[in-house]
Parts: sequence; C-alpha cells; structure tokens
Amino acid sequence: MKQQQWWLWLIGLIMLVPAGWADQKEERMSKARQQMVREIEQDVVSTSRYIGRGRLNEEIMRVMGEVPRHEFVPDKEQDVAYVNAPLPIGYGQTISQPYIVALMTDLLAVSRDAKVLEVGAGSGYQAAVLSHLVKEVHSIEIIPELARACRNRLARLGYANITVHEGDGYYGLEKEAPFDAIIVTAAASTIPPPLIAQLKEGGRLVIPVGTPFAVQHLMLVEKDSTGKVSMRQVLPVQFVPLTGQRE
Ligand code: SAM
Repeated sequence: MKQQQWWLWLIGLIMLVPAGWADQKEERMSKARQQMVREIEQDVVSTSRYIGRGRLNEEIMRVMGEVPRHEFVPDKEQDVAYVNAPLPIGYGQTISQPYIVALMTDLLAVSRDAKVLEVGAGSGYQAAVLSHLVKEVHSIEIIPELARACRNRLARLGYANITVHEGDGYYGLEKEAPFDAIIVTAAASTIPPPLIAQLKEGGRLVIPVGTPFAVQHLMLVEKDSTGKVSMRQVLPVQFVPLTGQRE
C-alpha cells in the first residue's frame, strides 16, 4: 500500500467509527422510545376509569414515538431518558412523565391550525410534542436559565413554530392572546383568571390544581361558544408548584 493510500484509509476509519456509534445510539434510543409508548398505552388502560377512555389519539401516540426525549434531558439522564417517569432537569425542576405529557396533550383536543400557550417550558419537551400537532406554540418559563437553555435546544433541533418567552406564566401572554388551548405544567393553587380570560371561545385549558406535595388534580377547563366556562377533575397528579408573585 502506498503511503498516501494508507493515510486515506486511516482517516476514513477514524470518521466511520464515531458515525457507527451514533447510529447504534439512535437505534437504542428508538427502541427505548417504542417501549415507552407501550408503557403509556398500558397506563392509559389502567387509568381509564378516571380519564374515560382506553386509548389516546393515534396521532399523539405517533408523535410520542418520534420526539427524541433523550435530547431534552441532561447528559447524566441519557440512559434513562425513556423511562415513563419524570426526570430532573436542574434548578429543582423536572421534565414531566411521558404518560402525563400524552394525556394532557390529548385533553387539549387541538386542531392543526391551533395556537397554543404552555406555562412552564422546562426542557421544551411538551412544547416539542405539541409543535408536531398544531400551527404555533408559545411557551413561558419563569427560570431564566431554563428559558435560555430551552430556546437554544429547540432551535438546535429545528423546532421553528415554538417561541419561548421568559416570565411569570400566571399572567399568560396578553400580546399573543387569545389561544385555542392552554396547558399549564406546574401545579397552581387556583386557576389563574388571566389564563381563562386568554382562552378562545370553544377553547380548552388543562392545568394541575392543588397544594405542593399534597393531592393535586388535573383539571380540564372548557370555554363554550357563548363564553361560559365549565370544569372537571380528570386525575390525581403530582407536579412541581407554579411559582411567581401570585402563587
Ligand atoms: N413542560 C416541561 C417539559 O416538558 O420539560 C416540564 C415543566 S416542569 C414540570 C414545570 C416548569 O414550570 C418548570 O420549568 C418551572 O420553572 C416552570 N414554572 C413554575 N412556575 C412558573 C410560572 N409562574 N411561570 C412560568 N413557568 C413556571
């Protein structure tokens, strides 16, 4: 082998080995993600008496099987990125349990042209799931470091229809209101009136309500075409608290 050919062969090998590792990792993550989807399906069946059905929307389950949750957790949580449980994301906060993400998304009953507000961007995972299903997502995060990291992550992953705002989501996002759907991913002691005001007629708001570290309930709030608001309890849940001035 000529000396030049030998060098070319070595450079090729050096480039191929990491590419092979990356492929193997993607395959491992994809298998873990499919297992996560099966576990969500089982949780839906075992909680059907609360949620009133034995299956979630097929399109939502397809998206749950595609969004790379491992990109939204810290490096040290990579190996457990697809467990059906909340995981720490720093600053005392968590990325929500995949079953809860799927269920809350389903309860919003969004259409393709919907404009959605999320309170509690955290890692950006819930916003990423929503972004595959709707036209526009606005997500507010109160912790500046998480808001920045979330914005950068979503941009790196190419999520172009999500805008991350830094601020107190208790007040919603007046300048972008009204919203077809609003999702709150931290537990409030009561339903913030500004969020109800910023919900469109015919819109839905999903929010955990209750005191920190005690029983909380996932609530579904609906505003009908006349502006009348009704609400119902869906499921007992446990979320980190909504913080900010009013809580
Ligand atoms: N949706 C997130 C995800 O997919 O990773 C998980 C959210 S985590 C359970 C709750 C988030 O709500 C935290 O990041 C927390 O900082 C944020 N939060 C708490 N109170 C808030 C408020 N008043 N306004 C905006 N965000 C708030």
